[in-house]
Amino acid sequence: SKTFEHETEFLQAVKNFLDAIEPVIEKHPEYEDLAILERITEPERIISFRVPWVDDQGKVQVNRGYRVQFNSLNGPYKGGIRFHPSVNQSIMKFLAFEQIFKNDLTGLPIGGGKGGADFDPKGKSDNEVMNFTQSFMTELQKYIGADEDVPAGDIGVGAREIGYMFGQYKRLNAKTPGVLTGKPIPAGGSQGRTEATGYGLIYFLLEMLIEVNESLEGKRVMISGSGNVAYFAAKKAMELGGVVVSLSDSDGAIYAQNGIDLDTVKQIKIDNRGRIKEYIDADSDAEYFEGSLWDHDIKADIALPCATQNEINEEQAQRLVDNGIKFVAEGANMPSHTNAVKVFKENKLYYGPGKAANAGGVAVSALEMSQNSQRLRWTTEEVDEKLKVIMKDIFKQALDASNAYDLDHDYAAGADIASFESIAKLMIMNGVV
Ligand code: NDP
Repeated sequence: SKTFEHETEFLQAVKNFLDAIEPVIEKHPEYEDLAILERITEPERIISFRVPWVDDQGKVQVNRGYRVQFNSLNGPYKGGIRFHPSVNQSIMKFLAFEQIFKNDLTGLPIGGGKGGADFDPKGKSDNEVMNFTQSFMTELQKYIGADEDVPAGDIGVGAREIGYMFGQYKRLNAKTPGVLTGKPIPAGGSQGRTEATGYGLIYFLLEMLIEVNESLEGKRVMISGSGNVAYFAAKKAMELGGVVVSLSDSDGAIYAQNGIDLDTVKQIKIDNRGRIKEYIDADSDAEYFEGSLWDHDIKADIALPCATQNEINEEQAQRLVDNGIKFVAEGANMPSHTNAVKVFKENKLYYGPGKAANAGGVAVSALEMSQNSQRLRWTTEEVDEKLKVIMKDIFKQALDASNAYDLDHDYAAGADIASFESIAKLMIMNGVV
């Protein structure tokens, strides 16, 4: 559509989705009269706002904040908050759109939303992050609530930022803790939320492997990113016998032929908010490359992109194929460009799309909401057990839909079809709204 010409990421996500659900549309001519597709691609509401704050030099800074409340058919809007300089309305809309279907796949009562700001937390002091975050929440709090819209973290928003947001929300509203998820545990957070996206990704990958009688034992795993998702994906993959040979950040990538030492990574990235390059100072066997991880020839079996959207282009996808990658499972949202996905499919790779494979984070966020409502706390083991069941079920939905439409292990189309069928039914039940 001409109106959205400049919203490239949003158009990309919608186009991928529409292509995948074509066989469902053919089966249901009545969807056209009901304008199902027109309605499903138009957000219920977009809130965009000014975020003024004062930096450590006493200078006033202004950022732009967003919350896209895309679809509430399944429950309160649910989706993370991203702080990154690249944030714009197109990226917010693509993420919120994908979130509708991802959340539906979890089987939990949550609608789709996403938010964020074009604020760059890199190089900012704790005090500056707090000033910014409090200003962001001062405006956002008017539009969210435990039964309306429950944000969580995403790129640039971890426990520290959620803690500051939650503190500011409580200062302005005398309300229960259910308004944000990913909270620090003492503030009402759930066990296992921090780990959930990365662990869930590996549980999904295991299902992909089991389906073709393979296991993770001894497999070489490339992971990009070194944030929350990448770190916990690496941890679980190693626990289950995989050899994680790479990690990266937006400056460059590290490669260690015999496997990365995660304790060192934790010290650098999580304890000190450092750069992944510092890793080579501690491990003399490791190499560091500037630029994208995907520009390097690394022999491996599995690729787990866990950094950001469109990080793998067509040429890089071909390189992965040439280097022996058989499985791709996405921790990030839409990390593979449309043409890269085409390369995976043409070469018969097993491909787990982010919408399904990274749903573990939002699933445990929904479990955090349940615990907050009931005013009780589940143990780490209880949460992990539920996460495993949910990821297994998501895989099954994608597989079953792929089989039902004779798509030969096309989990991407399967996930889109399964969740679209469910949302379309709900739309019809709810009448024209
Ligand atoms: P973090 O902020 O913890 O980590 C992001 C990582 O990706 C960092 O290593 C960062 O490097 C790198 N990165 C970010 N932007 C870019 C870029 N433009 N180019 C190259 N590298 C980049 O975020 P998360 O781990 O939480 O999120 C990673 C991905 O997973 C995102 O796509 C997110 O939407 C998705 N996701 C996250 C969930 C969660 O629960 N947190 C849930 C589901 C999906 P640098 O430090 O240099 O910026």
